[in-house]
Amino acid sequence: MKEEKILIIIKPDAIVRGLIGEVYTRFERKGFKVIGTKMIQLGDILLDDHYSHLADKPFFQGIKDFMTASPVMMIALSGINASAAARLIAGQTAGHEADAGTIRGDFAMSIQSNIVHVSDTTENGEIEVKRFFSEDELFTYKRADEIFVYSDVHEDF
Ligand code: ADP
Repeated sequence: MKEEKILIIIKPDAIVRGLIGEVYTRFERKGFKVIGTKMIQLGDILLDDHYSHLADKPFFQGIKDFMTASPVMMIALSGINASAAARLIAGQTAGHEADAGTIRGDFAMSIQSNIVHVSDTTENGEIEVKRFFSEDELFTYKRADEIFVYSDVHEDF
């Protein structure tokens, strides 16, 4: 298993509900490393790219309206097996189906307004972090607890 970079977006519903800290905490306490973060206002061009796999869905314009309703928090995370592990923390897409204990399971009922975006694969994680962060907005450092968080997962730690 190798260290991956993934993108988390704290969506407008979470921003206006005051859940920014809650979302960071869920990923931070698991052991993910925040390697970049910023608040931005999304626009059409970036969203057309980011949600291109949904362009032919009837709810596409609805997602775009939702995602531009307030600023969002962009977070680049790194971790071992990061996309798979982070999606378990986010929970199923539809809030009302998401397991209790996950972010969506604990804070959402909606399919659209489901608090967070999490990259769904290693490949997409790389692409999405590059889409939203320039090189000088990404940082390298070691967390003090990495040796414990990954003790039986990765021989380098
Ligand atoms: P995920 O975010 O879990 O990877 P998708 O990539 O399928 O899920 O969808 C991207 C986002 O589009 C979802 O997080 C949600 O905000 C929205 N979405 C997905 N399906 C629907 C739907 N049927 N109706 C409204 N919005 C949807």
